[in-house]
Amino acid sequence: MILVVEDEADAARLLQYHLQRHGYRTRVATDGRTALNIALTERPDLVVLDLMLPHLDGFELCRLLRAAPVTATVPIVMVTARSDTTDRLKGFRLGADDYVTKPYEMAELLARVQRLLRRPPGPSLLTQFTDL
Ligand code: CA
Repeated sequence: MILVVEDEADAARLLQYHLQRHGYRTRVATDGRTALNIALTERPDLVVLDLMLPHLDGFELCRLLRAAPVTATVPIVMVTARSDTTDRLKGFRLGADDYVTKPYEMAELLARVQRLLRRPPGPSLLTQFTDL
C-alpha cells in the first residue's frame, strides 16, 4: 500500500488515480496526524509526503516515521512546492529517499516510486549521516 499524504483534495485524488492505474493500492491522509496513525498501524510500502500539511508538517512527519521502528525503512518521496535546495537537503537529512518539486510530472513521480519499490529495504545512505 502506498500512503499519499496530501491535504489538497484534487492533488491527492489525481495521484491516487495514477497510482491505482499502475496497480498500487493506496491510502490518502489529508493531515500529518492521520498519516502518522495510518503509517504506524498499517506500515505502507512507500509514503508520498507533501511538505505543507495541517497539524504536523512533512518534515516533522518524516522525522517521526524514521524514529519509529515500524516505519524506519519505509521509502519516503517528499513533494515540495519549493525548488529550494535547503528544503531538499533538510528532507534528505530527515531520511527522505527522494523528492519531486511541485508542479511535478506524474510520469516522473511514478518512475521514482517504482524505482524505490524495487530497491531492497534498508536505511538510505544519507540517513547514516544525520549530523552532517
Ligand atoms: Ca499541501
